[in-house]
Amino acid sequence: MFRIGFGYDSHRFAPGRRLVLGGVEIPCAEGLLGHSDADVLLHALADAIFGAVGEGDIGQHFPDTDPANKDMSSSIIVERAVEIAAAKGYRVGNADATVILERPKIGPYRNLIAQRIAHLLNLRPEEVSIKAKTNEGMGLVGEGKGAAAFAVVSIEGKD
Ligand code: MG
Repeated sequence: MFRIGFGYDSHRFAPGRRLVLGGVEIPCAEGLLGHSDADVLLHALADAIFGAVGEGDIGQHFPDTDPANKDMSSSIIVERAVEIAAAKGYRVGNADATVILERPKIGPYRNLIAQRIAHLLNLRPEEVSIKAKTNEGMGLVGEGKGAAAFAVVSIEGKD
């Protein structure tokens, strides 16, 4: 059985926050605002996995009303998504994601992010693709007010 999952997420920038993308902390004057560490890339990936295996979305598994999830590392969210998929007999086959933000440039961190995500998803580095773009100055992301991410995963498994 072959499945595909898609995920999208966005978070706004705010002062006094760490910027964490794909589980990697990136030096920046501002970070993304959210209940957890607001790792927009891992949230999109987790939603892609949840979606692929028919398990809803992040909000159902990690409600932002739960104090236990406050400032939580989003690596835990992805690990849980992988566990839930595994419990249903599925594993991630590959992941392809794009993060969109005007600054900072994340090119220097791209390989590290891909390695971290490969580790979280039990994949080889060549099975993970991380792309970064700007929004060419258009819209709220283009004005630097936030960041967005899209992710697609393939899922292999039973049936
Ligand atoms: Mg989010």
